Amino acid sequence: MKEFELIQTYFAGRGPKRKDVILGVGDDAALTKVPQDQLLVVATDTMVENVHFFPDSSPRSIGHRALAVNLSDFAAMGAEPAWASVALTIPEINEEWLQGFSDGLFEIADYYNVQIIGGDTTRGPLSVTISLKGFVTEEKALKRSGAKAGDWICVTGQLGASALAVKSKIDGFKLDNPYLRNIEQRFNFPSARLAAGQVLRHAATSAIDVSDGFLQDLQHILTASNMSAELYIDKLPIDENVLASVDRLEAERLALTGGEDYELIFTVPEEKKGYIEQNATAMGIKFTKVGQIRKSGQGIKMLKNGECYTDVITSGYQHFGNE
Ligand SMILES: [Mg+2]
Repeated sequence: MKEFELIQTYFAGRGPKRKDVILGVGDDAALTKVPQDQLLVVATDTMVENVHFFPDSSPRSIGHRALAVNLSDFAAMGAEPAWASVALTIPEINEEWLQGFSDGLFEIADYYNVQIIGGDTTRGPLSVTISLKGFVTEEKALKRSGAKAGDWICVTGQLGASALAVKSKIDGFKLDNPYLRNIEQRFNFPSARLAAGQVLRHAATSAIDVSDGFLQDLQHILTASNMSAELYIDKLPIDENVLASVDRLEAERLALTGGEDYELIFTVPEEKKGYIEQNATAMGIKFTKVGQIRKSGQGIKMLKNGECYTDVITSGYQHFGNE
């Protein structure tokens, strides 16, 4: 099978057909229309075997995650996704693998109405790069730099599951079913909090997605906003499968430093909290208040039941290939 045939078989003509795509796969480049009053948003992410996914990861999961991580960055910007291009490097043409990979990719592309408008295939060690494009208006774009003293620090969903999935795989740590199944599902098929991002862009002062680990990603907001923070460890929304599988201290460590949860950390002033609560509830989005932005001091001060707390290992998440 040649490159042309491969693209025809697994990628061309699949997925949503958007009206704003003038020319998709099949020419030297794609042509698209950006709405007049919006900014073009671009995010790019590479996933490499043994660094971002295990050699025995299912191709469907690899296809899903490659787009999900970009969608998560869009969620954190309050942006709306539209088009993606895919650069795929594969060691050999394996039709079963390509079928699974493209199925996983198009399942999530269909769900979020993202059209694949082009890409490239090359032979080499397995790696996937996706560049996602879309829109947001200039005044609504969520940045890391807007957090103000007094703002609440909140996080969507629950933390720690992906980190435990990686730990159980690397350490051969045995987990009971169905906890193991739930945790592996979180790691292999993460959701992107796009609906939350759309609500937040009307009220949050800053946002970031949890890719490197909660503490490390919160620190990015603090650095960009030139602020510090107080964090209430007893308020952390830890995944219930994690709480059921490891002791409390380890669960806290995984929730604080584990990566790839793809939840959103955001900051919101007291007077806008009601707006987010109302809209999030209406849309079935869960979030938890876990701390507050401070002007004085440095970095993140952790408190547990009102007392200073430093028992957890606070180093950020490293991709497992680098550990
Ligand atoms: Mg990000």
